[in-house]
Amino acid sequence: MEQVPSFIGSEIYRGSSYGAWHPLRVPRVSTVMDLCRALGWLDRSQYLTSPRARPAALTHWHEPEYISALQRAEVRQAVSDAERDRFGLGTHSNPVYAEVFRRPATAAGGSLLAGELLARGGVVHHPAGGTHHGLPGRANGFCYLNDPVLGMLSLRRAGVRRIAYVDIDAHHPDGVELAFAADPDVLMISVHEERRWPFTGALDARAGGSAVNLPVPAGFNDTEMALVRETLILPLVERFRADAIVLQCGADAVEEDPLSHLALSNNAHWAVVAALRSLAPRYLVLGGGGYNPWSVGRLWSGVWAVLNGLEIPDRLPPTAEVVMRNLRWDGNRRGKSPPEHWFTTLRDTPRDGAIRDDVRARLAVLRHREGLS
Ligand SMILES: [Zn+2]
Repeated sequence: MEQVPSFIGSEIYRGSSYGAWHPLRVPRVSTVMDLCRALGWLDRSQYLTSPRARPAALTHWHEPEYISALQRAEVRQAVSDAERDRFGLGTHSNPVYAEVFRRPATAAGGSLLAGELLARGGVVHHPAGGTHHGLPGRANGFCYLNDPVLGMLSLRRAGVRRIAYVDIDAHHPDGVELAFAADPDVLMISVHEERRWPFTGALDARAGGSAVNLPVPAGFNDTEMALVRETLILPLVERFRADAIVLQCGADAVEEDPLSHLALSNNAHWAVVAALRSLAPRYLVLGGGGYNPWSVGRLWSGVWAVLNGLEIPDRLPPTAEVVMRNLRWDGNRRGKSPPEHWFTTLRDTPRDGAIRDDVRARLAVLRHREGLS
């Protein structure tokens, strides 16, 4: 029997901010929840409130000293110099903010729950998940905990063995790769912008045989992504015969994102979401990066539509349009006069383009190395 997809969310994300100047000052998950409800897409039977993970559950991967430091930082709303140096807390990228323990622990709790829900199969969308840079004992790259790793370990505890992790965020998932390097039952595929932080994930970096990394040049377009999807991602995942697929669907690879220089439309992400669905009996779709509040809301709401087979309307109904018009993006030029279609549509105009020689060449290297050609 086909199971109905579950959506894991929480009200903790509404109004939570990393601070006035941080890229994560913008609302993201609450926009997706509001938009999907306004569209009549988020039935109460499909919505699950994310539990907050208990510290003991986080130490399945994270170091207990680090978890204690994170809890302490929330209580004190400050860290010592020694704690900053050791744990990466209280920095520009990973500031101490009001919910600095509760919010990431809630996202981690959602991915832990997803692993349990998927024991018997199904589809889960957890847009607050996808914090793929978190390290065992350190905050890293806007991430305090690593919920994808915790979710995959939760799947393992539920008896799920072979996991394909696909990451289409603009950044390389260094934390996830660290966790599962050389694991023969994990396949990690990442497509990310070249020469961008964290500067890992080179074409020849294989994480002990468990990873396939494709760095792509600035301006990466929908046509190029379609070729990557059809000739690399899908054949590899299909051949791997995964028991579960975890997709990190970061929204920072779309053209309007302020932090990266890729040029995808949200159609590219949705096509990956749709194509992976039939390749395993368990499917967890996470969020990830994404720093333009409109493009994040539009992309991840569309992910939910794709997972449910819902038709995306050409024009949003008035109640959904209100959600979009009420968003603010202070401190960014593009937030001053957003284009009208950010308010009135979910779907971007496709961004097709030429397939560049270096993209073809890198794909050929990987296909040859992986025995696909
Ligand atoms: Zn990212």
